[in-house]
Amino acid sequence: MNCMSTILEVKHLKKYFDTKAGLLHAVDDVSFSIEQGETLGIVGESGCGKSTLGRTIQHLLEATEGTIFFKGKDVTKLSKKKTRDYMKEVQMIFQDPYSSLNPRMTVKQIIMEPLLIDGVRKKEAEEKVHEMMKTVGLDERFENSYPNELDGGRRQRIGIARALILKPDFIICDEPVSALDVSIQAQILNLMQDLQNQLGLTYIFVTHDLSVVKHISVKIAVMYLGKVVEYSDTSELFAHPAHPYTRALLACVPTIDISKSRDIEVLPGEITSPINPKPGCRFASRCSYATEKCYEADPELVRIGQNHQVACHLFNGHTDGK
Ligand code: SF4
Repeated sequence: MNCMSTILEVKHLKKYFDTKAGLLHAVDDVSFSIEQGETLGIVGESGCGKSTLGRTIQHLLEATEGTIFFKGKDVTKLSKKKTRDYMKEVQMIFQDPYSSLNPRMTVKQIIMEPLLIDGVRKKEAEEKVHEMMKTVGLDERFENSYPNELDGGRRQRIGIARALILKPDFIICDEPVSALDVSIQAQILNLMQDLQNQLGLTYIFVTHDLSVVKHISVKIAVMYLGKVVEYSDTSELFAHPAHPYTRALLACVPTIDISKSRDIEVLPGEITSPINPKPGCRFASRCSYATEKCYEADPELVRIGQNHQVACHLFNGHTDGK
């Protein structure tokens, strides 16, 4: 029996920024849901809106339009006090632990700070910090070290410990391993998976690198210029990528098996501006399948398989199956 329940449901979320050149549509009508204990990978090139989406869900940015239901409540309409409670339950891990950690604070002070702000007494807070350092694999001897005295992997463990110290249910990971060496990336990804199993965490994992989310996510949303263009179970996405942009992204995933080498789909053309975007598919200027219709009408996400949706006119009128 499947006893998972929906923990987060995002509906028609928009985040626009006023710029001198016009209205920048960073996140434009995005909808998806995540079950408790799952990981959703959000993948796309830099500038596609994936980090803005993460920050809007965490309330670091205010949504322009749309709703975010967390445990059944719309958190876009919370009071200040309730927003603070929500932000305790939904924490973030950032890409560059070096710039997200205060260089003047010791490891212990960094991990302890959210507890002290939350009113926990110092002695109890210190005990919790020691416990958390053990949980994330940081030796206690580093408690009085400063971030610059540690390597990238240990710094990211501090970021994870700080994110977990208030016992959140939900973590938004914004490119958490992109700044790390490949061998350290694997250690941090393994740690994150262990913590998920141990603590029942739900993750949104934002990355530009499909190979990173392949093993950690059960579902993937592919974003292009503020829109979700494909949304699918991970295994299905890798086996049957549908959107021309997803296929191009997959072609860039390195493989060590030369018998499986792929034809690289080089993306020609200019990237469309997300400022005051014109109607039509935002990928049209780079898509070798584009027709007149693609420049006239926005493609809607349509279901092409049991857990597989794609926004592309090539699939209009498509029902389940390929
Ligand atoms: Fe290409 Fe048209 Fe599909 Fe956009 S809608 S991805 S331009 S075929």
